[in-house]
Amino acid sequence: MSEKMLAAIFEGEGKLTLKDVPVPQITKPDQVKLKVEAVGICGTDVHIVAVPPGYIATPGTILGHEYVGRIVEVGAEVTNVKVDDRVVVLPNDYCGTCTYCQIHLPNLCENIGAIGIHVNGAYAEYNVVASKLAFKMDDSVQVEHGAFAEMLADVVNGTNKVRLQPGESVVVIGAGPIGQLYAQMFKAAGAGKIIIADMSDYRLDYSRKMGFDLVIDPSKEDFEKFVLKHTGIGADVVVDAAGSGLADAIKAVRKGGKVVAFGVNTQAVATFPQSQVTFKEITVFGAWLANATFPAAVKVLESRSLDLDGLISHKMPLKELHQGLDLLAQRKAMKIVVYP
Ligand SMILES: [Zn+2]
Ligand SMILES: [Zn+2]
Repeated sequence: MSEKMLAAIFEGEGKLTLKDVPVPQITKPDQVKLKVEAVGICGTDVHIVAVPPGYIATPGTILGHEYVGRIVEVGAEVTNVKVDDRVVVLPNDYCGTCTYCQIHLPNLCENIGAIGIHVNGAYAEYNVVASKLAFKMDDSVQVEHGAFAEMLADVVNGTNKVRLQPGESVVVIGAGPIGQLYAQMFKAAGAGKIIIADMSDYRLDYSRKMGFDLVIDPSKEDFEKFVLKHTGIGADVVVDAAGSGLADAIKAVRKGGKVVAFGVNTQAVATFPQSQVTFKEITVFGAWLANATFPAAVKVLESRSLDLDGLISHKMPLKELHQGLDLLAQRKAMKIVVYP
């Protein structure tokens, strides 16, 4: 008789079921087995279980991809981590052999398999992954902060693109957890004025609580005017963390400035003024997932330069996952950390 564990399984459109399943076992010599300590609920999870779904997951899969755990067993060929190490996990398993992997762009791998979306993830007590996806994090870091590693690695990919200089002004469009991390990362990097835009009062209030006073709801106030008033010529850097704000980003950025298109909303059809990109000589960067940025994200977590406790709005056991997903869907939560 095999050991059982509670897990949250995506069972097809709109159906996420909590049930007992067998504890996974190591089946390949390069794998590690870990006891999941904390996992963050991601907006992607909300999209996966929505009807109709906003993001496609494989039915039968245990969801959960923003996690930290302790290694309890390693395969015979594992050398980078060992039993008892606390690790965070890169959930985007890259093949290592396609052309993109060969030019060191693992986030753009042609055979990417997403843990917690296409293969079993971390809304469960145990999880087995390839050791190349496990990154050791110092034990002194609060375990909940490990649940931010994946988002942070994605954000580092975006911040790396724009190479912010001290004193430069920033606009972040979208004040959810990703937008908050961008704002904090830029602040830590010496940004001057930081403006945050969102249409949710909860998120704007949250931003103020986190120490960002320049917030604006573009549906209530003239966004471009606001940005000009505070920056003089427009922002040096604009991040669209919402996935639908490219037109606003192009309005807000100064001539010669930089825009990061980070958020993804496949429903949004952005009509943006191409002529402005030319007139203003704007550089627009796409930033998708973590581009070999996990080691940097772990170092940022270990440096404690971000206020992550402040971003955790709720903590709950796995059996309350559905309540957590509802809170997030209603935008009544910032980051929710789940303990399996
Ligand atoms: Zn996520
Ligand atoms: Zn590949």
